[in-house]
Amino acid sequence: MRLFTAVLATETNTFSPICIDRRAFEASLYAPPGQHPATPTLCSAPLTVGRQVMREWGWELIEGTAAWADPAGLVNRQTFETLRDEILDQLKAALPVNGVVLGLHGAMVADGYEDPEGDLLARIRELVGPDVLVCASLDPHSHLTAKRVAAADFLVAFKEFPHTDFVDRAEDLWRIAIDTLEGRVKPVMSVFDCKMIDVFPTSREPMRSFVDRLLEIEETDPDILSLSVIHGFMAGDVAEMGTKILAVTNDRPDKGSHLARELGMALFANRGTFMAPQMDEKSAVTQALANKTGPVVIADVWDNPGGGTAGDATILLQELLDNSATDAAVGTIWDPVAVQICMAAGEGAEIPLRFGAKSAPGTGNPVDGRVEVIRLVHNAQMQFGESRVPFGDAAHVRLAGIDIILNSTRAQGFDPSLFSVMGIDPASRKILVIKSTNHFHASFSKIASRILYCAAGTPYPNDPAKTDYRRAPKNIWPRVADPHGQGAS
Ligand SMILES: [Zn+2]
Repeated sequence: MRLFTAVLATETNTFSPICIDRRAFEASLYAPPGQHPATPTLCSAPLTVGRQVMREWGWELIEGTAAWADPAGLVNRQTFETLRDEILDQLKAALPVNGVVLGLHGAMVADGYEDPEGDLLARIRELVGPDVLVCASLDPHSHLTAKRVAAADFLVAFKEFPHTDFVDRAEDLWRIAIDTLEGRVKPVMSVFDCKMIDVFPTSREPMRSFVDRLLEIEETDPDILSLSVIHGFMAGDVAEMGTKILAVTNDRPDKGSHLARELGMALFANRGTFMAPQMDEKSAVTQALANKTGPVVIADVWDNPGGGTAGDATILLQELLDNSATDAAVGTIWDPVAVQICMAAGEGAEIPLRFGAKSAPGTGNPVDGRVEVIRLVHNAQMQFGESRVPFGDAAHVRLAGIDIILNSTRAQGFDPSLFSVMGIDPASRKILVIKSTNHFHASFSKIASRILYCAAGTPYPNDPAKTDYRRAPKNIWPRVADPHGQGAS
């Protein structure tokens, strides 16, 4: 057997001002055939797992390009078309193949393409014909369009958020692919549209139990090959946005539809209860100041570069300044120009500086003040589990007793080493402000006396009832109360 694999992934926040071109892919991950490193990034696990599985089976794996860009805004049209055509040309050269196994994210939007992954899958189907297996893995923060479902034999999404199971799901993808090619199963997809959009951390209830139930059904019911919850991505203003249940059965479409519907309505019944309660910046700072012990971690949950924002909001910093808070550290505020100015001034200099809040409305105002430049680091990096995350040239400045880290490569606050590499001892501070929705929790919970989830400003369209969508479906909760027409309940 000969199989072809490739990766094309990013997550597009269509409200983000940070547009993506080829350089952004090259800065995150761009690997020509055969050059992908041995360890996977999130969406490229089908490629690295595929290498192992194909070796074990003694089948031939033909690698195409793997490209991933960190979440941001609209993808440049030429960049998408060039990467897509690169992969299509590689596939053409590899034909005939028995199967195509892709690593996709599923929430890309490119200039002129509302559904780039659907476009790619449809072109692949056209190339290989109806009898060749086409399958892909997806991030649950994606859009499950009809075009993708029509073009692929089956799709598998990560179940966990944070996405700790991306390798497990790539293994599912390959297992089902092999079972299909050896004639043991015939995967068929059934989809249920939950007509809702929400955020579903699986580290807490009720989503924890829901995912455990999916795993149990997969394990115990031989008709069910895979169950996925497409969480949806509320910052992607596209016509098919929303939460969906995807059941892949062994040729039991009716059973799949029934189960997808049952699971989807169970999810809908719990709408609005999945996220940890959030407070505004005033309550967060008041509660942090009143806390007897430190450090209190305030997560600026919606100004998370991991969700495509710039990460330059100043609302929480301004609240700290207004309350004359000291013994606080803020990491990070993205401002490459301010970092350049600090680099020119040098460590120890005291300079007038304007920084932050330049990218978008809803992020506060730029902060002006005389800052002391404490420490400058070129190509700064923080830890994230086993890997290292760059946050670019960075400046640690002090303003009115508050330590602030300015950075030049957008990155969410994964780990307290973000502070220590800039000369700030995070454990000794009373208040730490970071920008992350959920991924920070594992590492910061080890040093925090308390964690406060703060919704400050509107850097991210986090309230779908109020977001000014142009393309997203109207008949979807919370844009309407009763999208399924169940009547009063
Ligand atoms: Zn995701």
